[in-house]
Amino acid sequence: MTDFPRSLLEFQRRFPDPAACATYLTAARWPDGFVCPACGSRKAWALATKAWTFECAACQRQTSVTAGTVLHGSKLPLTVWFWAAYLMATHSNGISALQLQKQLGLGSYKTAWLLCAKLRRAMVAPGRALLSGLVEVDETEIICRSDDDPLTGGGGRSHRGKMPVAGAVEVQAAGPGRIRLIAIKDYAAKTLHAVIRDNIAAGATVKTDGWAGYPGAPEVNHEPHVIGPMAAHLVLPWTHRVFSNLKTWALGVYHGLRRKHLQAYLDEFVFRFNRRRTRHAAFRSLLGIGLTLKPASYQMLIAPEARA
Ligand SMILES: [Zn+2]
Repeated sequence: MTDFPRSLLEFQRRFPDPAACATYLTAARWPDGFVCPACGSRKAWALATKAWTFECAACQRQTSVTAGTVLHGSKLPLTVWFWAAYLMATHSNGISALQLQKQLGLGSYKTAWLLCAKLRRAMVAPGRALLSGLVEVDETEIICRSDDDPLTGGGGRSHRGKMPVAGAVEVQAAGPGRIRLIAIKDYAAKTLHAVIRDNIAAGATVKTDGWAGYPGAPEVNHEPHVIGPMAAHLVLPWTHRVFSNLKTWALGVYHGLRRKHLQAYLDEFVFRFNRRRTRHAAFRSLLGIGLTLKPASYQMLIAPEARA
């Protein structure tokens, strides 16, 4: 997709109406022409009575261009979805539901929030590849926000009002590669080993600050880099930069993250970071092109722990 719009004006010219969006979806999903998902036939008609729907000439199965994407079953116009995905993919810091509601002139905050939540749900690709090579691993604390109190600092050594987060960053010659951020319950060896096992490929070399929780992780060459008198940001420069950007982002865009949705927000940050040079891929991923998601109910979205 080399013809991805580079500006808002270009985007507006490219996707002026729902028909243009449907044409894009059709081409993105069936680059070699429509194929019936039921029988594999390539002969189909676009239905005049049902918007953006093909009927298979062989088996009469009707297939919507939005089936299997995050847009499916939505009452919002395709143009609203496309604008939301474009703004979310191209704003380097992302966009909050409130900003989206204002910019797209959506009727209610709830509509905007659900739109954001559905797009954000596409930010974790199932079966994504584990980090490999040399990987920095470290942990930090994020200040959390409650409904009553916008910012609860906790203060002192108390963990109240703070949420522990583990981070992993691939170290490449030119700088950081891909990253992962994981909400963790504590800094115990068992927890940190699970983070390494679930996110880092066997045979990778893990560089840490030498904290007792890391050694002994299975199947990775753990290369503890004991800090001693040296500052942690010198030993693990990329994780520290990622953590710093994460905290700035959390405060700037969301005015602090909520405990309940922490992992979803971390996933958004990771998605954005890992696609910082491929905005067109971000846009397609957000619309759910190329992957099949189970439809998300409102209840599933507000209770992220119920996500599969
Ligand atoms: Zn068919």
